[in-house]
Parts: sequence; structure tokens; C-alpha cells
Amino acid sequence: IKRIGVLTSGGDAPGMNAAIRAVVRTGLHHNLEVFGIYSGYLGLHQDDIKQLERHSVSDVITRGGTFLGSARFPEFKEEKVRVEAVENLKKHGIDALVVIGGDGSYMGAMRLTEMGFPCIGIPGTIDNDIAGTEFTIGFDTALNVAVEAIDRLRDTCSSHNRISVVEIMGRHCGDLTSSAAVAGGAEYVIVPEIAFDKHELIKQIHEGVAKGKKHAIVAICENVCDVNALAREIQESTGRDTRATILGHIQRGGTPTAQDRIMASRMGARAVELLLEGYGGRCVGLQNNQIVHHDIIDCIKHLKRPFNEEMYQLSNTLF
Ligand code: ATP
Repeated sequence: IKRIGVLTSGGDAPGMNAAIRAVVRTGLHHNLEVFGIYSGYLGLHQDDIKQLERHSVSDVITRGGTFLGSARFPEFKEEKVRVEAVENLKKHGIDALVVIGGDGSYMGAMRLTEMGFPCIGIPGTIDNDIAGTEFTIGFDTALNVAVEAIDRLRDTCSSHNRISVVEIMGRHCGDLTSSAAVAGGAEYVIVPEIAFDKHELIKQIHEGVAKGKKHAIVAICENVCDVNALAREIQESTGRDTRATILGHIQRGGTPTAQDRIMASRMGARAVELLLEGYGGRCVGLQNNQIVHHDIIDCIKHLKRPFNEEMYQLSNTLF
């Protein structure tokens, strides 16, 4: 291979820029030409493709988001659209691609590999919901944002004897919530992987109040229930002022942590090496602090992401 492309797709995540930078600089190190594809698969289809130089990725390692931009482009599931996209790649002489994104982006990468364009996937999402890796790029940064938010809520809750319900992102994966609960010392944790018993939660909060607890923090993953309604019910039942806070996209922005930058750099470099070794249709991951790679289809269809039971149990033990 002589020319490679790189794109970011799906939801953005802090650390994606560090991964792009690693792809560009590793590529240049191996005398490849590197092209940036703007706005994910949409840009691939619209031929929004520009050559990247060493300086194109200067000063991006500290920045959240993705300077290449990202987009949802469901039309990419249609073969006709992908054929047109591949024409664009051919026009630029690009023979391999690195795709940074989530499960959906991996599917697009697999389809392109099947069409003769070797692709390597890099897991980029704050949700930590991708199989084949212990951590995804952006998770650590989002976790730190969530913990800082919990710390701040704790200060004001203690001053006012208040109960706080904090909704944390993660889509259908409780990793971010249970990790934030452990690091932030939240009293109660609710994750999608464990059935939520609202009455049991309220009973436990009652017991805490009876024991003289000054505040209570409930860390709850998004998509479990309406947190404003939950806060109202807790307030009605306990008589304590209760507020819901939805952290939302605040968790998706900001300067990536050192850990996210380092992992993204390692993954980006390895992705390019894999392409040079002749691989396609693989995705990189981090396991036992080693960079590993798996078949993309295996990763999406067969490798189930294990629920982090230990973290969940720990948050329940330490409250
Ligand atoms: P996140 O987890 O952050 O949402 P994601 O990569 O899973 O990231 P999606 O919106 O599911 O986000 O997918 C991103 C893009 O990948 C889609 O907009 C589409 O262009 C492409 N894509 C998704 N599924 C497929 C598929 N089955 N075949 C081809 N392309 C796909």
C-alpha cells in the first residue's frame, strides 16, 4: 500500500484527534501518503478528501472532538452508495482505510473490506460498549468529567441535606456509571445490565436518611428511566429535596486525559502497522495493557462485551 485514508464516524469522543494524529504520523514514518476524509462516510461519499501532512495534525492532541468531523450517514448501508464512495477512494489512489468509531462504523469498515478495501477499526466512543477491548477512546475523559460533576454535586448536596440523582452516559453500557460511582463515592448505582428495582432504591434511601445521612447521590445510566420523574418520587417519599442532573453531552467534550491520548496514539500506530502487514477487516483493542486485534465481524457479532460486575459490586460495597 502507498496511500491510506483516515476517518472518524458515529458519535465523537475526546482522544479521536490523538488517534488521527498517530495514524498520520505513523503513515508518514513508513513513507505512506495519508488522506483525511471529512465527516465520516458522508464525506467519503461526497469526496470531501484532503491530503494530510505532518503539520496538519499539529496542536490537535490536546483538543477534544475530531477535527475531521463526524456524521451519521445511514445511506452507507446501501451498496450503490458504497460503490460510489469506493470510486472516490480509487480516484485519490487510496488503497486502505483506518476507521475510528463505534459498532456502526465498524460495520461500514467491514463492508468496504469485503469490496476490496482493507480497513482497520479503532474503538472511539465514550460509552465503552465495544467488544474486543477493555477501554474505548474517550471513556477515561468522560469518566473524569462525570466524577468531577459528582464531586461538585456532593458539596452542594451536603450543605443542603439534599438528594441528587445524576444521569451518566453510556447508552446501554453501565461501565461509565459504575466507574464514576466508585470514583465519586456515590451511594447508589443503577446500570442497565442489572434490573432496576425503584422501590428497593427508595427503601434504601429511607434507611440512609433514618441513619442520619446528610446527603445521597444516585448515579444512574441513561436510558434506564426518566430521572426527573425518579427524583420527584424520591422527594415525595423521603420528604428530602431531590434534584436530577443530566450530564449529557458535557461528558463528550473537553481536553482528553493523558490515558486517552496515550491509548489513542498506540491504537492509531498499530492500525497503520496492521495495514502494512497486509491485514484488513480487523479492529484494534487494549487487553491486559497490550494492543490486540480481532476480526471485525467476530467483534460485532460474536464477542460479547463482558459486564464489569466487579466495578458494580465495588460501588455497592463501598457506599
Ligand atoms: P456511536 O457508538 O458513537 O454511536 P457508531 O459508529 O456505532 O458510533 P452509528 O451511527 O451506528 O455510530 O454508525 C456510524 C455510521 O456508520 C453510520 O452513520 C453509517 O454511515 C455507517 N454504518 C452503520 N451501520 C452500517 C452498516 N450496516 N453498513 C454500512 N455502514 C454502516
